[in-house]
Amino acid sequence: MAEETIFSKIIRQEIPTPLLYQDDLVTAFRDISPKAPTHILIIPNKLIATTNDVEEDDELTLGRMITVAKRLAIEEGISADGYRLIMNCNSHGGQEVYHIHMHLLGGKRLGPMLSV
Ligand code: AMP
Repeated sequence: MAEETIFSKIIRQEIPTPLLYQDDLVTAFRDISPKAPTHILIIPNKLIATTNDVEEDDELTLGRMITVAKRLAIEEGISADGYRLIMNCNSHGGQEVYHIHMHLLGGKRLGPMLSV
């Protein structure tokens, strides 16, 4: 069983992070250290440590993460110009928090996909 991260406390609102969206499967809130004018994290309520740990039973949740990203992009006014969705996995992917999350980034022209 993976260890809980700060994201579980945010889901349960044990730390008072304003939520942009929450339902039975996913939760969304602003990244504490934004890398773009819009930088939102969309996470499953269920603790899944990395994308390596995703199972077939999680497919509905993962699909919901994308439909919520789409909805939030509209609310943020960035859907027409476009945005980027990112999920990092493990050390080479630059993952810092071991509770999977989708970054929704936009509000300006983003740079190249990878800085190498
Ligand atoms: P990653 O590198 O993909 O694991 O991204 C983790 C993200 O979580 C980073 O962009 C952090 O800024 C963000 N983050 C960490 N702690 C918090 C928090 N308490 N509230 C909001 N975002 C957070």
